[in-house]
Amino acid sequence: MLLVYGPRSTTYDFGPSHPLTPRRFGPAIDLLEAVGAVPGLAPEPVADAELEACHSPGFLRVVRGFSENPFGLPTAGISEYGDVPPFPGMHDAGSMVAGGSLRAMEAIRRGDVEHAFHPGGGLHHAMRDRASGFCIYNDVALAVARARRDGLRVLYLDFDVHHGDGVQDLFYDDPGVLTFSIHETGRYLFPGTGFADEIGEGRAAGTAINVPLQPGTGERAWLDAVRLLVPSLAAAFRPDVVVSQHGADSHAFDPLAHLRVTTTAMGEAARIVDAVVHRWAGGRWLATGGGGYDAYRVVPRSWSLVWLAGAHRDVPSQTPEAWRARWAGEAARYGQAPLPETFDDPPNAGFPIDASQQAAEELSRETARAVSAALVPALVREAIDRGWWDPVDGSDPPDAPVPAGAPTVHARLDADLRFAVGVAPLPFTSLRTRPGDRFSMTAAIVQDVVVGAVASAASATSPGRQILAVGVTPEHRGHGLATAMLRAHVDSFRSGDEPLFATITVAERDWVDPLEPSLRVSLARSLFEGAGLAVRPASGSIRAIDPLALEATLE
Ligand SMILES: [Zn+2]
Repeated sequence: MLLVYGPRSTTYDFGPSHPLTPRRFGPAIDLLEAVGAVPGLAPEPVADAELEACHSPGFLRVVRGFSENPFGLPTAGISEYGDVPPFPGMHDAGSMVAGGSLRAMEAIRRGDVEHAFHPGGGLHHAMRDRASGFCIYNDVALAVARARRDGLRVLYLDFDVHHGDGVQDLFYDDPGVLTFSIHETGRYLFPGTGFADEIGEGRAAGTAINVPLQPGTGERAWLDAVRLLVPSLAAAFRPDVVVSQHGADSHAFDPLAHLRVTTTAMGEAARIVDAVVHRWAGGRWLATGGGGYDAYRVVPRSWSLVWLAGAHRDVPSQTPEAWRARWAGEAARYGQAPLPETFDDPPNAGFPIDASQQAAEELSRETARAVSAALVPALVREAIDRGWWDPVDGSDPPDAPVPAGAPTVHARLDADLRFAVGVAPLPFTSLRTRPGDRFSMTAAIVQDVVVGAVASAASATSPGRQILAVGVTPEHRGHGLATAMLRAHVDSFRSGDEPLFATITVAERDWVDPLEPSLRVSLARSLFEGAGLAVRPASGSIRAIDPLALEATLE
């Protein structure tokens, strides 16, 4: 894993009293080098034209003005008394961070490296026209935009304790970028956004995923939410490249936020990303740092665990004694001593799990489940829940090409049968269903190719049979095939006594070539009504996330 760090990395410096301090690079790069990382790409400032992929020329002029004379009146998020105070050379410093992430993305694109880690990057709050939350230019958004320029589909994963609002905002209407952010709820924490109902707009509805957690949520609920959502979203989205932001401020020791995540869980999350990257994104992965304000006890270990995950190396049993000796004095001076002897933390970072933490985690788990119910395709969610299919360790048939993110399936049901591209969000033939699931499929077949399918199974969560997918390959849409298949499927269960139902959320869109939401919903309604089901708005937590979600039932 390429480590992006150089002499200019420490010039991004808002001054000695600012929480985002370049002092963190001292102990952190020292520890990274101790575990075997060698800086291999030194960030340098880029031309303004590169920054203009995400920022307005007017904003660049403002930053340049402060950069030359840091005494102007507050504007564009830059203020002496705010989160982003002006400092001489701030334009070059912000541009340098952007340059580190841009050049790293290009190295990944060229295939020079599979993975790169830019710990000084991850400035996810910067907006098109405004600095925000310690962030001048949005290096992660610029790296995403660089990949989009080449037509790549980008999965952005944000583990910082603060919502990744700048990246979400810049790609909110782009169906080719899926942003995922897990963070402390904006009800209590900056930037006050990142609620579950921020799902993207227009054809990109469903491509912004937010998991706001209650203050006090610990590592178990945090990591379970990551496990629940990241692999399934990657499987449905089929990215070409993954960009991830590993802010260390979700840690229990962090002075600016209120989650109780551990370095153990952060390292595990990075290993989940690595597995997902290899399974679904051809190994292409740009990881960055982010927030993290316990610069001695937390940030060095967190960054090292990200690098070790990307380098496919085991975690050493202990932090080096020499490293602890070198930084003990400085850590003590800043009230962040003693330096931990292990990379992993004790469970719950050594804190007792009290009733308020348990209550917080129950609410956080409910949020994650609701997000999954609304924003993960039913077939993917059920296949994982029921153990039919593994989104991390499983494999597709090795000869299955995946053009433009769409799944191709080779039949296991019948050796002579193939599935056309785009029928369903995952290969039916890779499912290992069991008789008790009472899985059933109705397919439309042209010669030996499955061009459409409807699948249902006995529900795992409620009485009845759940319709899990209705899909037709793009070339055969618009001829009533889906209606005919769904009607045939429904008719085969009409005489039975189990109720048939479906929940149709934004997750059931075509993830490669989505329709406008209003058109998609009206087509879904007429499809299910045409097959004889009663259709009404979905209820409860699903509708709170996706207001257009529908429920269809045959009683
Ligand atoms: Zn890897």
